[in-house]
Amino acid sequence: MNDFPVYRVIPVLVYYGGDEVSDGYGWKAYACPFHGDRSASASVNTQDQLFNCHAGDCPKGNAVQIVMKQEGLTYGDAVIRTKQISGQVDQGPSPSQRGRGSGGSRFGGSRSGGRRWSRAGR
Ligand SMILES: [Zn+2]
Repeated sequence: MNDFPVYRVIPVLVYYGGDEVSDGYGWKAYACPFHGDRSASASVNTQDQLFNCHAGDCPKGNAVQIVMKQEGLTYGDAVIRTKQISGQVDQGPSPSQRGRGSGGSRFGGSRSGGRRWSRAGR
């Protein structure tokens, strides 16, 4: 079984400014998004989901390796990031509840039972 998840490399490259390429091709010339490539001096493999730049010290390898290098993350963090970028999120609830801070105003010290003795001036 394939217990090593393969993440699509194109969404990651697109995320960093690369071009969209259809899945299912072998190696294909690709303009590297990492060093401002104008002529396609990198290659991408949309079958094996790999990327390789022939110029410079650019991230290369699979999607996770690219994210790892580009973001300076550990492998585990890079996997999470790759999932976010490529949209390949595991099923399950994604707690994206934002701006749900605890309301600032607290009613404290209203201890006096609320009832007010109105002193009927005698
Ligand atoms: Zn490059």
